[in-house]
Amino acid sequence: MKGLILCVCQGTCPSFQKMNVFEVVNHFRRSKKVDFALIHPQLCANDGDNFWRALLGGGGGRIDRIVVAGCDPAMQKKLFSRVFKELDFDESKFTGIKIRNMTTEEAIKAIEKALED
Ligand code: SF4
Repeated sequence: MKGLILCVCQGTCPSFQKMNVFEVVNHFRRSKKVDFALIHPQLCANDGDNFWRALLGGGGGRIDRIVVAGCDPAMQKKLFSRVFKELDFDESKFTGIKIRNMTTEEAIKAIEKALED
């Protein structure tokens, strides 16, 4: 299964104000380019760790690829690597994409490009 998560810094960060995050996830749901798509308010918070535990517990379960669109990919790696290690999740299945400060169309394009790679 291939999943897309938009992580939006609680929805209050100005760097997500230029895009409609619902339009972005719905684009990928409609085009069926992923098996599931969702918006999470803050994956780097403690309950974000719990989300990863629920989704990826037992080494990742049925997840073949997970794409997180949010802050800088290097920052995402730093923020998630501890919990991925804890869960024995293969980090090569994870792709981080920066969509901060993008419009809806720019964010869709950036995610589409990452899904093609
Ligand atoms: S993981 Fe990145 S995009 Fe998500 S809440 Fe934390 S800083 Fe913001």
